Amino acid sequence: MISTKSLITTLSLILSILWANKASSHSDIKLYAMDCGTLDVSDMSSLASEGQFDGQKTKMVNPCFLIRHPKGDLLWDTGHIDSMADTSDGEVNGVWHSKMNIKLITQLNLLAITPKDIEYLSLSHIHPDHSGNANKFVESTFIVNELEHKYMFSEPAKSMFGDYYSALKNSKTILFNAEHDVFNDSSVIIKSMPGHTPGSSVLLVRLVKAGNVILTGDLYLHARGRELGTMLQHNDQELTTVSRSNFESVVNKENAQVIIQHEKHDFERLPKFPQFLD
Ligand SMILES: [Zn+2]
Repeated sequence: MISTKSLITTLSLILSILWANKASSHSDIKLYAMDCGTLDVSDMSSLASEGQFDGQKTKMVNPCFLIRHPKGDLLWDTGHIDSMADTSDGEVNGVWHSKMNIKLITQLNLLAITPKDIEYLSLSHIHPDHSGNANKFVESTFIVNELEHKYMFSEPAKSMFGDYYSALKNSKTILFNAEHDVFNDSSVIIKSMPGHTPGSSVLLVRLVKAGNVILTGDLYLHARGRELGTMLQHNDQELTTVSRSNFESVVNKENAQVIIQHEKHDFERLPKFPQFLD
């Protein structure tokens, strides 16, 4: 027989534990950067409109990010398609040479995660170096800017890249306009920064020890591009300029660490998976 007093003591203990978990939720957020391939560029001329990189070459990285929050997991970008890791030398598409060292699924498995365990999927944009494995995450809730969603299922985009993400058509989907607060506590926010594609986005993650971190998607492709203000010739130049101005305001306001996703130096200074930022 439980006495009323001990019942009240037990209930208040449970309530205090629940409250402590709620209050400490931000401190339980972890950001993992996974190796989802590389991109060698044999001629960088298309990365600027006034010839700044003509005749130059570069090597880029292509990470995917897992954000683990007490309310669920968010996968931000899915890298090159995993089957590329089975080829001897990846794929060449014009000046772009994509390679993959290790599969995304293999890396998730190291954390005892399979795709069906991922609650939320979001892509900075729908190009194949970011959407490569998207079809594997149909059971996740897909969070996407409404213009990107319209673009990705339009005929021209579908015929170019649709094979990588076509299954998401049937996913449970959250469409957003300017931004989306993933866990509804301001800790993980997706912000629209169009220009590279109609609904390209960046991700702001507020971590307790590491501070605020912003993942750029392809708003910038490399650190020199951010310094020089250059952009890919195929970008909407005007939209990209406005987005970059918004982006730099957010960076200042949030005192955020910028991770340019394709920039090797930015990836290399992050903890090596399965280590994480928190
Ligand atoms: Zn990219």
